[in-house]
Amino acid sequence: TEAWGGVAKGKFLNQLAVISTSWSAWEVLEAIQEIEAELGRTREEPWGDRTMDIDILFYGEEFIDTEKLKVPHPFIAERKFVLVPLLELFPDRKHPISGKTFAQMLRESEDKSEIEPYF
Ligand code: ATP
Ligand code: CA
Ligand code: CA
Repeated sequence: TEAWGGVAKGKFLNQLAVISTSWSAWEVLEAIQEIEAELGRTREEPWGDRTMDIDILFYGEEFIDTEKLKVPHPFIAERKFVLVPLLELFPDRKHPISGKTFAQMLRESEDKSEIEPYF
């Protein structure tokens, strides 16, 4: 996809993963930060080019609002690169806070960036 937020120069390769875990959301966050560090994550500026970024979009139906962790991820509705694969995987599910389907969120989204499937 094109870079979101107008900061990064390169394109992004996005992937959505659904996992089943006995870990808490905080333990998952710790694990993804370790993976980012292992992959040598570097970045110059917020939303700029980076080697890898792993975010937690949802943790079941839970609502978490702390400095360190916000779930559902606060920018889902603003990001087509998140909404398009979410809709593909969960055509009938509703966002636990807004109660909207991902199709509805996509229709209402002002994000005009191009989303290209990558094979
Ligand atoms: P954005 O949140 O807009 O996608 P980003 O992913 O580029 O921005 P990072 O610099 O990767 O932001 O993360 C900054 C901090 O956000 C992390 O250190 C983490 O503690 C916090 N954070 C809050 N909620 C989440 C979440 N749902 N998933 C991942 N990190 C989160
Ligand atoms: Ca992110
Ligand atoms: Ca992140």
